[in-house]
Amino acid sequence: MRRFSLVSFLGLVLVGHQTIPVGNRAPLAPSTLLTNVSLLDGTGSSARRASVRITGDRIADVGALTPRADDQVVDGGGLTLAPGFIDTHSHADRSLMRGSDALGALSQGITTVVVGEDGSSPYPLGPHFDSLARAGAPINVAAYVGHGTIRGRVMGTDYKRHATPAEIAQMKTLLANELRAGALGLSSGLEYDPGIYSAREEVVELAKVAAAAHGRYISHIRSEDRAEWEAFDEIINIGRQAHLPVQISHAKLAMKSLWGQADSLIRLLDRARASGVDITADIYPYRYWQSGLSVLFPERNFDDRKAAQFALDEVAPPDGITLTNYGPHPEYSGKTLTQIAALTGADPVTTLMKLVKDAEEARKAKKPSSETIIAASMDERDIERIMAWPFANICTDGELDGRHPRGYGSFTRVLGRYVRERHVTSVPEMIRKMTSLAAANVGIRERGRIVPGAYADLVLFNENTVIDNATPADPHAVSTGIAKVWVNGVLAYENGRVTPARAGQVVRRPLTSP
Ligand SMILES: [Zn+2]
Repeated sequence: MRRFSLVSFLGLVLVGHQTIPVGNRAPLAPSTLLTNVSLLDGTGSSARRASVRITGDRIADVGALTPRADDQVVDGGGLTLAPGFIDTHSHADRSLMRGSDALGALSQGITTVVVGEDGSSPYPLGPHFDSLARAGAPINVAAYVGHGTIRGRVMGTDYKRHATPAEIAQMKTLLANELRAGALGLSSGLEYDPGIYSAREEVVELAKVAAAAHGRYISHIRSEDRAEWEAFDEIINIGRQAHLPVQISHAKLAMKSLWGQADSLIRLLDRARASGVDITADIYPYRYWQSGLSVLFPERNFDDRKAAQFALDEVAPPDGITLTNYGPHPEYSGKTLTQIAALTGADPVTTLMKLVKDAEEARKAKKPSSETIIAASMDERDIERIMAWPFANICTDGELDGRHPRGYGSFTRVLGRYVRERHVTSVPEMIRKMTSLAAANVGIRERGRIVPGAYADLVLFNENTVIDNATPADPHAVSTGIAKVWVNGVLAYENGRVTPARAGQVVRRPLTSP
């Protein structure tokens, strides 16, 4: 048995006063023994004292283990050891391709992200996976195939209409190819262009292709406010007609008149489950979302004053909408709609319409036209009810370099504020929602539980101090209480720092049904 210093785990060995780098890939000894931890295995079972032996990228043994000669022993200091968290709805795609160190994910305990969400995926996926694997990602990456992406490939700029049968047939071929590359299933973003223009039948037809490949369906549903009940019906019907598991992305009731209806939603979902539809959901722990201005206008009627008024009255108030990025007027970034209205001397409704119009015109003129907003639309009671639903798992919906704090703080916020402070559910149950349930809800196997044979994705954290620090003003503040994170058996994060180990793997869909 060899006591192991923290420094050597970071890929460095101390020799006298010199520090010599020894490479950044493999663990330095054949096995690591994590001792003195309170173990939550991800199944929802209560904490127990146990040691965990890691050999290579797998968990070799769990229980009352005696150190062996070749073990590197790591003393967990009595902290809680859980499976690495699985983020079932991530927008880390682009950052990871640019070589991000994934600090935002690792520092909140995330070891696996699922990308290709909201109908938009890297295309083609095969080469994307290959280059990620070659470059070495800091975390594991799985992906869905975006409906909008393949719809765009087939219909080009002529997408503001239903697809023809011939076009749907082409989409099916593209989808089947992408699924063969290892995607988990089909994702849609039916509130976004181009998905919003699809007929229900188009999505069902494509979901059947995912079903035939033992894949799944995950969706940013067609409405999260005005027509949300129809949108819930749509996803339930997709599950029923295409015979595959379906997951509601970032479940929310994002309109004032819907507030307080989480119980009705859960009854609807439970009824669907009882009738044979395997429907689940993920959720992030914030009252405010981040998206584009266009989603405030589901009819895309940007010059309709009544629609703009309705958006501000019902969906998000002017002082609850912050522009996080605005190409036509970069100086508006960080300002609320109320503040911009005051600057321009117009009322909030006129200001909102002008912001959308200016962005549209900039887009047509090929000038800077990007725009994103953070908007407060949800009620805490609904968030807590949906979060506690036994089939809802936790996600971030975040980016690694985004302006919404969810990219850095979602999981730690849930553990600190929703579990420790508000007792939404127990710690073991919430850990289940972050690990084994998350894996099950997106079809990932061999991760999300601490059992012999599983991949050694692990997080060591302090239940009493874990909390998020990221805010809209400081969205990249690192969380408190995450001590160490291992990805495939390699230490990836420790004491606020990402290690040089890039031990992440591409997670492909199993080729057989469960
Ligand atoms: Zn979304």
